[in-house]
Parts: sequence; structure tokens; C-alpha cells
Amino acid sequence: MGISDVVIIGSGVAGVSAAQSLRSEGYEGRLLLVGKENVLPYDRTSLSKAVLGGDLADPPPLLPAGWYEDEQIETLFGRRATRIDLTSREVLLDDGKSLKASRVLIATGSSPRVPSFPGTDILGVETLRTLEDVQRLRQDWEPGKRLVIMGGGLIGCEVATTARKLGLEVTVLEASDELLERVMGRRIGSWCRARLQEIGITVALRTGVAGFEGKDRLNAVIGTDGRRFPADSALICIGAEPDVQIARQAGLACDRGISVNDSGETASAGVFAAGDVASWPLLAGGQRSLETYINSQKQATAVASAMLGNIVHAPQIPVSWSEIAGHRMQMIGDIAGAGEYVTRGSLEDGAGQLFRLSGQCVVAAISVSAPRDFAMAVRLVESGVELTPGQLGDMNVTLRQLARPAQQPEQVA
Ligand code: NAD
Repeated sequence: MGISDVVIIGSGVAGVSAAQSLRSEGYEGRLLLVGKENVLPYDRTSLSKAVLGGDLADPPPLLPAGWYEDEQIETLFGRRATRIDLTSREVLLDDGKSLKASRVLIATGSSPRVPSFPGTDILGVETLRTLEDVQRLRQDWEPGKRLVIMGGGLIGCEVATTARKLGLEVTVLEASDELLERVMGRRIGSWCRARLQEIGITVALRTGVAGFEGKDRLNAVIGTDGRRFPADSALICIGAEPDVQIARQAGLACDRGISVNDSGETASAGVFAAGDVASWPLLAGGQRSLETYINSQKQATAVASAMLGNIVHAPQIPVSWSEIAGHRMQMIGDIAGAGEYVTRGSLEDGAGQLFRLSGQCVVAAISVSAPRDFAMAVRLVESGVELTPGQLGDMNVTLRQLARPAQQPEQVA
């Protein structure tokens, strides 16, 4: 089937990047972008940091307002797609309209996981995903107010940093035995915990939440160990669930995310998924939802090419960044796993890198306040260059030198 009408469901970074790539790759046909938030698509990564902290009044737009009109993108912001009919190739919207679609991209993102116990709807208990969430969360923040954060992952640690900067009393309750374990592993997680504690944040490990207490407004968070943490506000950030409902209804296969191949296509030809909602193949094997900005962009680019018939195989390596207690953390690959760990520089002094080698392949790295070295770490992980732990740890050799492919001996005529 020729490509004539593309419908993108979701106006986050995956959806918008796909629209941008389709146009830049020469697609001139009808292109509709449906997004449930009634605002110009914005950079979500700024929410927990600059926007929440008040350094930015609004998150930066992903693309300038005029771009959508200039590129003849039909934007339907403030609209939800409710159903995809795979047989008739139509996308149905919540206002009853139906859109013809020769290609569909599902880029619906994910939603904060919320525990099932009662009390999560008490005033003062929030989750963080959208600009509206940030505005609500910020409303009652004043120096000295007590914020209890449920979950010491990326959102929890970023928000803890921001709230502490604004003078709040912050407590992080983490169910597992280290912060940030999913993305940074135990060693860096423990390093981050020490930095958060240094700036006055209280951390309780192995402490889940059993309930929220308060009548008209929250007054305490109750830990699973029975402890009572007095609170003026609380943030639930215990992970995200991919928004797969529309795909499930259409009968598309999902594990946690929508199952796609390494160019983003589902089992139904012409229907694609990208971003948080997609369970995408990994270069290291297996597949899962990656939930990062950079991977969403990469997946969207691959989908746009595939829609136009230029299949690129784009198995992913997770890449992300964060800012915790004033330190820029950059991550590539899965740092937790089997193999050998090698440190370069001094993490203790707040600038260094941790690598994981599997056999002689560098499969993951985390940089702490070392952006230039991170660029080289990315090269090492992506190129699959073989190194021994001794070579990687040798500070007399730069990462740039290590990343350079071995010189071929010159041919003698
Ligand atoms: P997360 O997975 O990063 O962290 C969740 C944390 O909550 C984990 O440490 C987990 O052990 C803990 N937890 C789980 N159940 C708990 C319970 N019952 N009580 C206490 N702790 C519990 O998820 P998040 O921080 O909620 O972030 C949501 C999504 O947003 C993720 O997909 C994340 O990748 C993404 N995000 C990314 C960035 C970034 O890349 N810098 C920043 C913010 C958010």
C-alpha cells in the first residue's frame, strides 16, 4: 500500500521526532499529529529540574510553534485517539471523528504507576509526568515544607535535588536496598545517595509506603515498617507503565510495551510504535520499553525511514542522562549485569566513569560530571571495540585513543 495518510498518535518526543523525520526525508503527504495534552509539544526532561525549580517558567517547546504550520502538519492537540481499526485502517478520536491512515505510529508514552492502596487521591499526593502535574506540585512548595518522595529512582532523585534547592525538607522512601538501582546500578546508586544526604536529604532504604494519611489534605506518609513520616506533600514516582491500551484493543501483541521489530513495526504491516510505549529490540539481546528521550528520538527516526520504505535496523542501546545533587550523570547500556567493572578517574571526587565489560566488549558506562569523556564512552560501547580491563583502566591512554580503531599496518608496494 502506498503511503498517503500518516497518523501519529502521541505528541511527545517520539511522535514529534517522527513527524520531523518524515518531512525531512521527503514525505509530502498528509500527516496528522494527535496529542492528548492541549499544549505545544514540549521537552519533558526539563520538568523535574529547571521548570520545577523555577529556573524556567515553561518547558522549552520541542519545535517552534510555527514549524507545524510551515510543514503542513495537521495538529490535533487536546484530542485522544480511542481506537485503531486495523481492517479499515482508521484511527478513531474521542470527538467521534475517524481518520484514514495508511500508516500509524503509536507513540502514546507511559503513565506514572500508582499504588493500589487507598489515599493516593488525597490533596497533596501527586505524580509527575506533565506540565500540569508540575504546576500542581509546585503550588504549596515553600522553604521548610516537608516533601516525602515515594521511590528513589530518576524522578525521585531529580525532584529531591530540586526541592532541596528550594529549601524544602525532603525525605526519599525507597523500597529496594539502594537508590537508582534500575538505571545506575548499586555502586553509583550508593554514590548518589551519599551526595543527596550531603545536601540534607533524608533517605530511607528498604522502606515502601503502606498508605497516605490525611482528611482534607495530606499530613503523613506511612512506611511499610509502620513509621510515620509527617508530610505537607508527597510525590509518587515508583516507575511508569507504557500506555498500551489502544494497541491491546486493536489486538496488537504487547508484553509490557507494544512488541515491535528493530525498525519499529508491529506484526500488523504499516502500524508502528516508538518511545516509552514500544517494546523495542536491544543490541544486547532481548527487548523492552526503554523510557528515555534519546532512544525515543532514535526509534522515531527509524520508524520514519521504515514508513517510507527504507528499512533501517535499529536495535537500541539505552542512553540517558540525569542531574542529581548538582552532578551530571550520563548513562549508556545496562550497567548492572555480569562481567568486569573498571573505573577511570575518581568518582569520589565527583568526576569519573564506571564501565562494564562483558568478555572484552565495553557494554555499558556511566559518567559523573565528565561529558567529554562520555562522548568517547558512547563510541566505545557503540563500536563494540575489544579491550581488556587493564587497557580500559590505563589512565596514560585517553579514551579517544582507545576508541580509535587499531591502525592497519601500511601496505608496502
Ligand atoms: P524509576 O524506575 O526510575 O524509579 C522507581 C523507583 O521506585 C525505583 O528505585 C524502585 O525501586 C522504587 N519503588 C518501586 N516501588 C516502590 C514502592 N512501593 N515504594 C518505594 N519505592 C518503590 O521510575 P521513576 O523515577 O518513577 O520515573 C518514571 C519514568 O520516567 C521512568 O521510565 C524513567 O526512566 C523516566 N524518567 C527518566 C528521566 C531521565 O532519563 N533523566 C528522568 C525522569 C524520569
